Amino acid sequence: MTVLPYEEALAAYDPVLGLEVHVELNTTSKMFCGCSTAFGAEPNTQVCAVCLGLPGSLPVVNAKAVESAIRIGLALNCTIAEWCRFSRKNYFYPDMPKNYQISQYDEPIAYDGWTDVVLDGESYRIGIERAHMEEDTGKSLHVGGATGRIHGADYSLLDYNRSGVPLIEIVTKPIEGTGAKAPEVARAYVAMLRDLLRALGVSDVRMEQGSLRCDANVSLRPIGTSTLGTRTETKNVNSLRSVERALRYEITRQAAVLAGGGRVIQETRHWHEDSGITTAGRSKETAEDYRYFPEPDLVPIAPSREWVEQLRATLPEPPAAKLQRVSAEWGFSELEMRDVVSAGAVNAIEATVAAGASPQSARKWWLTEVARRANEAGVDLEDVGISPQQVAEVQALVENRTINDKLARQVFEGVIAGEGSPAEVVAARRLAIVSDEVALAAAVNEAISANPDIVDKIKSGKVQAAGALIGSVMKQMRGQADAARVRELILEKIG
Ligand SMILES: [Zn+2]
Repeated sequence: MTVLPYEEALAAYDPVLGLEVHVELNTTSKMFCGCSTAFGAEPNTQVCAVCLGLPGSLPVVNAKAVESAIRIGLALNCTIAEWCRFSRKNYFYPDMPKNYQISQYDEPIAYDGWTDVVLDGESYRIGIERAHMEEDTGKSLHVGGATGRIHGADYSLLDYNRSGVPLIEIVTKPIEGTGAKAPEVARAYVAMLRDLLRALGVSDVRMEQGSLRCDANVSLRPIGTSTLGTRTETKNVNSLRSVERALRYEITRQAAVLAGGGRVIQETRHWHEDSGITTAGRSKETAEDYRYFPEPDLVPIAPSREWVEQLRATLPEPPAAKLQRVSAEWGFSELEMRDVVSAGAVNAIEATVAAGASPQSARKWWLTEVARRANEAGVDLEDVGISPQQVAEVQALVENRTINDKLARQVFEGVIAGEGSPAEVVAARRLAIVSDEVALAAAVNEAISANPDIVDKIKSGKVQAAGALIGSVMKQMRGQADAARVRELILEKIG
């Protein structure tokens, strides 16, 4: 596939984004029946007549899901409909046994909102077109074939446990004027949304488990023009990093098509994490293809204004306001804060500080040890496998001198490898610093007698030469000594 270098693409074309985010709500039961929504159960054990689409079954709306939808709408500064209905979106797919999905079409529960996203110290206002309720489909597993996709598969298995899980789809208005930063703004928006949804407590927002999924639309238009170009939609991008990468790729691909005099085809595309490219999926349906009509089995939803106001009072702090607050509380420089935001570490640091660590130590561990491993594994920070509480626990072990910074790295490694809590890893790997003064003194004496030249230097006033002796002692102690105490002992003996 031909692509144009990114800078060249951006010199000629102006990208316009549109982001559709699907959020699975964390209600205990499904959208229209009482089946459990718990993730990871045996296939087809959480199903009933309603979510299997058996004839004669009737849906009933989950009130908690409506409440979550309204709270999401309010948090995104949307208008909450006084009256709205569900619609049937008609299409056939094996993972949807009713042959239609209950969704909302022209009457979303929340519409016309906005939210602010901060990137590199700059604020971008993102318009929210709508947030509507719908049900999730089941899951197909295509067996055989190299790609896990239906093409080339020998057969497919279906699991309807997910069928009917409540979803909220949040759709942005066209996002313009972000220029070369478009992919990063998209990533920052999804990250902000994830944080907001988590703060609302309405979803567990695990991108790798599919409870937060992003469809990324992008179109290009020649710089200086205002008509929107033809867009493509890259489906189900399942990490923040992939949102940015997929859009960056799609911009360079579309630019090459346009620069070569071709036309971009309106279609859905698939993102391939391994090769870093998108490939064509089906050509995009239009709304008419789905023959939407109002769902006759459900009554309209008419949330009272009193209820809406009660729910408004339960909203968490808006993300942009929160950023301002924590940056003041933590006393980070603007540059430090920028790094924290771009690493997506705000909530992790907040939780680590709440668990007892200082802001600077929390920042240090999340942006070095954890971030490095997240990069290596190609996952987001919270999916690395260490919790804020555990990071705080590592820091506490450093502060009470059970371990030092260097040993802490091995503790991170152990916790992430699933060897247990930080204290358990320290015990199992025998990482605790030796506080046995007799053993320390012996190591110090040995280092001193083995390095008379260095001792002379220290005696003649070059105290910084002690570093070599400390290194020698640390080596004898296999790194498991408190360097500050070793230094004290050395200077005591020599001085
Ligand atoms: Zn059911």
